Amino acid sequence: MPKDKSVKYSKMTVYSTELKTADDVKTTTYEDSRYCMSCAKHRRIFEKLKNKAIRASEREKSGAGFRPRNQSETWNSGKRW
Ligand SMILES: [Zn+2]
Repeated sequence: MPKDKSVKYSKMTVYSTELKTADDVKTTTYEDSRYCMSCAKHRRIFEKLKNKAIRASEREKSGAGFRPRNQSETWNSGKRW
């Protein structure tokens, strides 16, 4: 499958012990998936990506200064930290 014919979708999952104390452990994982164009359509990936982009731009407009870490296309391609 050629790369330019695939769609990447990263799903963020936050795990937390929800202890609300100093013992609380929280970790975030990113699960990357690639779909070909027809799979992406069936799984409504384009819709999800669009909604994500809309939410991100709304956050930016609200002026909180918060920038999502995964906003750039290259963010997941190299070292994470
Ligand atoms: Zn497919």
